Amino acid sequence: MIKADVIIIGGGATGCGIARDLALRGIPHCLIEKGDFAAGTTGACHGLLHSGGRYAVNDPIAARECYDENQILRRIAIKCVEQTGGLFVRLPGDSKRFRELFLRSCGEVGIPTEVISSTKALDLVPNLNPEIEEAIKVPDCSIDPFRLCMLNIRTSQLRNNLIFTRHKVTEIIKSHGRCIGVKATDQSTGEAREIHANIIVNATGAWANMIASLAGCEVPMTLAKGSLVITNHRLTNMVINRLRPPSDGDIIVPNEAVCLAGTTSLAVENPDKIGIEAAEVDTIISEAGRMIPHFNNTRIIRAFSGVRPLLKSQKMDSHEISRGFRIIDHQNGMYSIVGGKLTTFRLMAEKMVDTIMASFNLKRACETAAIPLDGQEELSGYPLSKRLADMKDIVCECELVNRKEVERIINQTGTRNVGDITHRTRLGMGPCQGGFCTFRALGIMNDMSVVSPEQSMAMLRDFLQRRFRGIRYALWGDQLREEQLVEYIYLGILALEKPK
Ligand SMILES: Cc1cc2nc3c(=O)[nH]c(=O)nc-3n(C[C@H](O)[C@H](O)[C@H](O)COP(=O)(O)OP(=O)(O)OC[C@H]3O[C@@H](n4cnc5c(N)ncnc54)[C@H](O)[C@@H]3O)c2cc1C
Repeated sequence: MIKADVIIIGGGATGCGIARDLALRGIPHCLIEKGDFAAGTTGACHGLLHSGGRYAVNDPIAARECYDENQILRRIAIKCVEQTGGLFVRLPGDSKRFRELFLRSCGEVGIPTEVISSTKALDLVPNLNPEIEEAIKVPDCSIDPFRLCMLNIRTSQLRNNLIFTRHKVTEIIKSHGRCIGVKATDQSTGEAREIHANIIVNATGAWANMIASLAGCEVPMTLAKGSLVITNHRLTNMVINRLRPPSDGDIIVPNEAVCLAGTTSLAVENPDKIGIEAAEVDTIISEAGRMIPHFNNTRIIRAFSGVRPLLKSQKMDSHEISRGFRIIDHQNGMYSIVGGKLTTFRLMAEKMVDTIMASFNLKRACETAAIPLDGQEELSGYPLSKRLADMKDIVCECELVNRKEVERIINQTGTRNVGDITHRTRLGMGPCQGGFCTFRALGIMNDMSVVSPEQSMAMLRDFLQRRFRGIRYALWGDQLREEQLVEYIYLGILALEKPK
């Protein structure tokens, strides 16, 4: 049996942020995640470090939190954030009244804005629709959610706290009505572990009610699925938002080699049972195409979706539900933390750890806003072209990942899962979506004797199935042609069977 002061369930941005904060305040803890870090909503998000502009009109408190955190993350997470800046563009027919309301609301919240002419906007983003009436500049950024989680958890790892990925919590252990620990199953070996602690933090986002129910409690939530599509290159170097009330398909975010456009919002019951509907992809492409017309003839390389863990609300339209967060004290040694945004994860963690410190009767102030994230010095950061300088033995051409980097991750994590390399290096996240680099990475794992040839073939099969589930929504034109080439490589040269 393992013992810590605090158990955190969930390794998304919220859980990893809480772990870092606890580490800096010297509280021994154990984080348990059923997949890899960022395996849930965090890894399925748009990657927008909000300026707060999107929420200024309907949700000023969340907007202010976003703006403050945006300023903090630019400083402490320099290698995760690309300071792109953002534009809210007004298309012909978009309400002028909303424009006034937007500017006034941003002003009240304290978000700096600058109205620029369409000509100036087109100078900044030449691919913009030339018919835009005007644009408003805001301090939006692009952020890498995977890197953000890995760097947050690094502080806990460096201070010898316990981190279990690919371990699913299946039971909350109770004694005299109090939660005193959890049982978790290793997803690779089936081995069960028992971990005890004084406090349990449920940071499982969209799964929070499932975990709470293991302890006989409830977390009232509205689950809203959102889908996104990825283009094969950057169509804009700035974040582009539509100047209208939050709606489907109104944001385009550049991220490294690609662009992400979305999103949608549909109520769902179960976060493990979500799919993408063709109509969502159509809506996103046509709405994005109104802001950047090239969207209509650019290769879409993939679609994916995630589930927003929103606070329960009477509002019918999930676009209108608050992006604020809440800490629920279940009065039995377990806390749940739900709602919020990726942008506000650090603040959520700070408030959660303040609550934990108070319950331990300990005083030590939060330092996460002042201290830069550990481990950034060994990362290249943005932009992508910087990485080309000393590149040898390239494994992934799209994201410029070389053999040395792949070997470093394998040695550092001892992973037997190619997805873990992807989350830590961006291998396979670019235009070919792993088509040309996954088998190379598996070859390296073979050379290093981490996996056997039989295991790597099974992993390759699993990877192709997962990849195809996202790619099949984007199969037309050049993308279809490239996909056929990839298919010939895997079916013809590597003799794998067709994905189902
Ligand atoms: C489509 C979409 C786009 C978005 N875009 C943005 C954006 O651009 N900017 C922004 O600020 N916010 C965005 N958000 C919101 C943001 O992504 C989420 O609010 C945030 O990532 C939630 O993080 P989390 O750590 O609370 O939850 P999650 O990231 O979901 O983490 C919960 C973790 O718990 C784990 N877990 C669940 N059950 C168990 C178990 N039994 N045992 C162990 N582990 C378990 C899961 O595997 C998961 O990794 C977006 C959301 C969606 C859906």
